[in-house]
Amino acid sequence: MRSTRGKMKNILVVGGAGYIGSHMCKYLAERGYNPIVLDDLSSGHRNAVKYGPFVEGSISDSSLLEQIFAKYKISAVMHFAAYCYVGESVTEPAKYYRNNVANTINLLDVMVKNNITNFIFSSTCATYGEPIKIPMTEQHPQNPINPYGRSKLMIERILEDFKSAYGLEYVSLRYFNAAGGDHDEELGEDHNPETHLIPLVLKTAMGQQKEITVFGDDYPTNDGTCIRDYIHIMDLAQAHFLALERLLNGLPGSVYNLGNGKGYSVKEVIEVANKVTCVPIPLRIVNRRPGDPAVLVGSCEKAFKELRWEPKFPDLSTIIETAWKWHRDHPDGYNTSVLL
Ligand code: UDP
Repeated sequence: MRSTRGKMKNILVVGGAGYIGSHMCKYLAERGYNPIVLDDLSSGHRNAVKYGPFVEGSISDSSLLEQIFAKYKISAVMHFAAYCYVGESVTEPAKYYRNNVANTINLLDVMVKNNITNFIFSSTCATYGEPIKIPMTEQHPQNPINPYGRSKLMIERILEDFKSAYGLEYVSLRYFNAAGGDHDEELGEDHNPETHLIPLVLKTAMGQQKEITVFGDDYPTNDGTCIRDYIHIMDLAQAHFLALERLLNGLPGSVYNLGNGKGYSVKEVIEVANKVTCVPIPLRIVNRRPGDPAVLVGSCEKAFKELRWEPKFPDLSTIIETAWKWHRDHPDGYNTSVLL
């Protein structure tokens, strides 16, 4: 007899110990779902798995996937287990194609064999490449300029083929820049090494590094630094949840951008962080980082309309405030002793 924990629906959250996956699990559990986390802990944190069962392992392990599908009746799979560093993807493409593409095909393959047909995929605005028109809609041409973006685009295409061949129903969510932490401070952003702008700016404010290096100030933007569209992690979780319910209600899947439709330059992010933390944040301009487009800002009208998505924390200072609270109270991330 397979476990269903009463009438709760089981959702397999692959990569559920990571930054976005852990917030998703909290969001699911608060709404009566049972999030089952599969994570190899290569970058996730055991301490971030708090809302349902945990299985340690990889999506490359077909027999482990078979065991999970035999033990639990899974209503849908949400897939967050990807490498996501643009810079690293340029220097280590094999790692990105192996994990983000080959291992994801393995997951999809075992799902199809087990008749699990609902899939939520974490895609990215990096699949668009250099923008032709801002804000970018889902129709924007997809010409990624780094292996990370290409690995995600490959899966988007593979999903189309799995849908026509095997009836897999899916939603691909193209994230802009996820940031912030949950308001109860149970979860936050903790990557090792950290490469993302907002956590690094806040680590600078805390004195954990002496300055924030800004990758290029010669981009064709107002202040010469790159512009990105930052979206609160819980707003991202809300959109995934709505996408999940769409599939569970038998509606067809689709592709949606998830952002706030408003761009901030790297220097503007540092300025807002300065105001939020009331600490001066020294910066140093260095060379451009390979693989970075000048501007990425999304149009999310489609998600507003079709998913009825309503971001609750669109304001950059709120996003940075929630991140600041987490970093200030957890200076060593999940290793901070108060958690243990
Ligand atoms: N960035 C920066 N210094 C850093 C980290 C990031 O100037 O130490 C810039 C980066 O070049 C990009 C923006 O901040 O323009 C956001 O980068 P992040 O790595 O946070 O997210 P990405 O856009 O790569 O997903």
